[in-house]
Amino acid sequence: MQNEEGHHAWGRYNSQLQRIEIDNNQPSSMMSQTIIHEILHAIESNIDLGLGETGVQILSNALHQLGIGEYLLGSIDLARHLD
Ligand SMILES: [Zn+2]
Repeated sequence: MQNEEGHHAWGRYNSQLQRIEIDNNQPSSMMSQTIIHEILHAIESNIDLGLGETGVQILSNALHQLGIGEYLLGSIDLARHLD
């Protein structure tokens, strides 16, 4: 999976489709942080909070430390292979 700049990415937010895509081939601890990270990008694409990439990384790391990612992984229905 690649981001809009063509770099490798574990997840990405598609604002046109309003869809978060997550690479399945990553450890679950990493996936939980990736989900938070992409959710923050999704929120920021609708409301400009001025977080930028660094702000998203800091916040997603903090929320991950609180266990939010594990909670989300256990409570969100992840669709597989939508295309
Ligand atoms: Zn990002």
